[in-house]
This record gives sequence, C-alpha cells and structure tokens, in this order.
Amino acid sequence: MMEKTAIVWLRRDLRTHDHPALSAAAESCERVVPLFVLDRRLLDGRFASGPRTAFMLGCLRELDEQLQALGGGLCLRDGSPEQVLPELAAQLGASEVYWTSDVSPFALERDRRVTKRLKAIGVEAIPSPGNFCADVSLPRTKNGKPFSVFTPFWKAERELPRRPLLPPPAVLRLPDGLDCGALPESPQLGDQLAEPFCRPGEPAARAALELWLDGPIDSYAELHDNLSGGTSGLSAWLRWGCISARETEQRAQQRGGEGAEAFVRQLAWRDFYAHVLLMFPDNLKLEYQAKFRQLEWVSDEQGFTAWCEGQTGYPLIDAGMRQLAATGWMHNRARMVVGSFLTKDLHIDWRRGEEWFERRLLDAEPSQNNGNWQWIASTGVDPAPYFRRLFNPILQQQRFDPRGDYVRRWVPELANVPTKRLAEPWLMSDDEQAESGCVIGSDYPAPLVEHKQERLRAIERYKAASA
Ligand SMILES: Cc1cc2nc3c(=O)[nH]c(=O)nc-3n(C[C@H](O)[C@H](O)[C@H](O)COP(=O)(O)OP(=O)(O)OC[C@H]3O[C@@H](n4cnc5c(N)ncnc54)[C@H](O)[C@@H]3O)c2cc1C
Repeated sequence: MMEKTAIVWLRRDLRTHDHPALSAAAESCERVVPLFVLDRRLLDGRFASGPRTAFMLGCLRELDEQLQALGGGLCLRDGSPEQVLPELAAQLGASEVYWTSDVSPFALERDRRVTKRLKAIGVEAIPSPGNFCADVSLPRTKNGKPFSVFTPFWKAERELPRRPLLPPPAVLRLPDGLDCGALPESPQLGDQLAEPFCRPGEPAARAALELWLDGPIDSYAELHDNLSGGTSGLSAWLRWGCISARETEQRAQQRGGEGAEAFVRQLAWRDFYAHVLLMFPDNLKLEYQAKFRQLEWVSDEQGFTAWCEGQTGYPLIDAGMRQLAATGWMHNRARMVVGSFLTKDLHIDWRRGEEWFERRLLDAEPSQNNGNWQWIASTGVDPAPYFRRLFNPILQQQRFDPRGDYVRRWVPELANVPTKRLAEPWLMSDDEQAESGCVIGSDYPAPLVEHKQERLRAIERYKAASA
C-alpha cells in the first residue's frame, strides 16, 4: 500500500503532549511534516513584538528537539501560509493538512483561504481542537445567543464534554530528503527584555506546571491577588501552546481542593474571551457596548509616555509598568490597576494600552488582551457599572502589596521609603524624603494627576457617553 504524508501546520500549539492535530496526523499517515510558517504579516504587523518573537523562536527551537526525539523534526518556511502550504503539500504529495483551530478574525480568514487553496489541489484540510479547555464555539444562552457574561458562560462551559488527554505520538517520521529549513540565525528583533519572565518551550512549561500542581496551587484562592506572588505564571506557555489548557485544567481538577477550583475557574476566563472574540469579531476595533463608542478620549502624549515608562508618580502603576518592560509579564491585579489608570485617570483610549501590552507581553494574544482591556475600560462584555472598575491606585497598593515587596522590587528609588508612606510617597515630609534618599520631584516623580479629581472627571465622561 502507498504510504501517506500529512502536514501539521503549527501556529500557537508548540508542543508534543496533548496535541490532537499532531496525534491525528500520526495516526492517519506514515510520514508527518510538522511545519511552522514564519509569516511576516504577523511578525512585522500591527502588533509586532521583539520580546514575543524571541520567545516564539525559543519555543520553536525546543519543539524541534522534542520532535527529533520522536524521530521527526520541525520544518520551517518563510512566507504566507496561503502560498507555502499548497506548494509544500504538492511537492510532498501530502494528502492531508492538520491544524489547531483558532478564534481571531485574522486566523479564521487566513484558514479559510488556505482551506480553499488546498481543496483546489485535492488536499484535505483538517482543523482540530487543542487551544482551549472545551469547544468555545458551542456555549449558548437559553435564548440561543452567544454569552457576554462570564459566570453563566462558565456554568454552561463546564458541562460541555471534554476530549481525552493525548500522549505525544509514539514515533514520527519525516519524508526522506526533506529540506527542513532553519530558524533565522540572528534575527533583527529590536528591543529585548532585561529579565524575561520565563524560559520558552515545552520542557520548561511542563516543569513549571508540575511545580505549580505540586503545592502552590493549593493557596491560589487565598493568594492570587497578592502582587508579589501567588499565581501560576503559566500564561505565556498557555498562549504559545507549550502546555495545553485542557491538560492544565484536568491536572488541576485531579489535584482538587479550593485552590485548584479557583484556578480552574480562572482558566475558564481564557476560554470565555476566546468565545467572545469568535462571536463578536468587531470587538477588535470597536467597543462591545455601542453606547461607549461615543466616549471622548484625551490625547496626552506626555501622560502616555509616563505611563509606558513607569514614571507616573503612583508607585503601584510604576511597579507594574516596569515589571512589564523588564520581564514581558505583569501580575493580573497590576494589569487591572494600570488599565484603570490609563483609561480613567489619564482618560487615554484603551486601544493605546492594548497596543502597548501587545508589544511587550509574552502572553499577549488578541482575544485575551482585547477582552481584558475592554473589561477594565468598562466598554466590553461582562459589564459592571464603570465606577466599580475605577481603581484607586493607593488603596489597591495598600491592600495587595501591604509590605511593599512588589513596589520596592520594581521601583528601587522607593526602597527605603517607610511602608506607611509607600503608597503616597509625596506625603513624606522633607526630613522623611532626605532620610529615605528619595526626594519627590528629583529621585521619584510627583504624581502626574490627582486620582480623586480624575475619578470624578472619568465618571462625568462615562455618564455623558451613556446618556
Ligand atoms: C488589561 C489586561 C490585559 C490582559 N492581557 C492578557 C493577554 O494578552 N494574554 C493573557 O493570557 N492574559 C491577559 N490578561 C489576563 C491576566 O492578567 C493574565 O492571564 C495573568 O496575569 C497571567 O498570569 P498567570 O499565568 O500567573 O495567571 P493565573 O492567575 O495563574 O491564571 C491561570 C491562567 O488562567 C488564565 N487567566 C487568568 N486570568 C485571566 C483573565 N483575566 N483573562 C483571561 N485569562 C485569564 C491565563 O491563561 C492564566 O495563565 C490581561 C489582563 C488585563 C487586566
């Protein structure tokens, strides 16, 4: 019998464990070509990111090793998938192309075009699950509508069937003589991170998952808002598919307990925002709540730059933004507070914050970043009155960084400021400033705006837009 060849087109599913597309290809065909296409539209596009591209290349390097250990290897091509896939399929005589389906309008449109071109040359396109805990296209409200509120979504989604976890394929074989291509030797990636938050690739991801499940997860319910620790730190690996969300969910459920339950619920937010973007693709450009499309935003370049650089004079904001700049990650509580500050203290359009996050975060991904930015700007799904998501950066710091560990770590100018003054260092007397080696206005900026005043202004703006 003639041997069959399949291509597995990898995108953000850079792993060998629990990979339905890879396993199905290995089951169906004797020769399997795991392929990654370096698509310039994404790498140099609207949300280009040096740190994230470097992380992705690291994941690909690791994946190549994992695939080689199974007898195969990673094949790389430059270009557009619409062109590369039919060409390679024809060249190899491949009968099937597998991939893990995704939710963004860009991905959906691209996949439609690829499918059409493959079909035209008689090659079957086979989208598979693998990016989420469950099939995010399925949940519907009692009225048959997509969900726009998290809790009912979560109740519906957790009842959906789950696919069984898959081990890596036992063995993989590439076609003889295939030129696998190579990763760019010294890519021009622009700015890089001083202390990348985590190491790229499946082995590092699996080791981190084991460590997390082995104990720290038990305290998640209690500590997840603690700015200097308490969360899993798995987001970049989930974003790139170095571990599967489905496996993460199941392993946490097996661990059980209050911490694991809270963690599994949090993981469902990821599926929720994927569902939301799949159902409401216009959200990428427009406010989900139409009334807030009228909101007036301020154009304040100085304020925006101070926010980006962590120089606002509000210690928690500056700590979060500097953590992002240095590591490519920020604690969720800090993301919420800096998001609130940008949109409701500086009155700057959430899209600018979304873009800045896209450029720096290792875990940035359109459905998650857009969903969360619209949530904090109070323009998106899961609505709550806008004043409920208008955070006071002083109180948030006192509550979630009471000893000041997080702020002192990321804003070293404040290292010797007494804890009772740390959330409002501008209240230090001249003597206190001299003693702590932090003179406001020279060692550390005075607050850029006055929160109490800007809060009222934000309420007016939102009120006017919703009237
Ligand atoms: C303005 C803003 C922008 C954000 N942009 C992104 C983004 O681009 N990509 C991204 O993955 N997360 C984003 N988040 C969500 C959240 O901050 C991160 O997922 C989380 O901080 C990752 O850290 P962790 O893995 O330690 O999380 P944990 O608390 O350990 O949670 C476990 C996993 O659950 C998922 N999760 C947790 N919280 C959320 C959430 N609010 N929304 C969606 N999924 C969640 C993540 O996959 C996370 O890795 C954003 C949040 C805000 C407020």
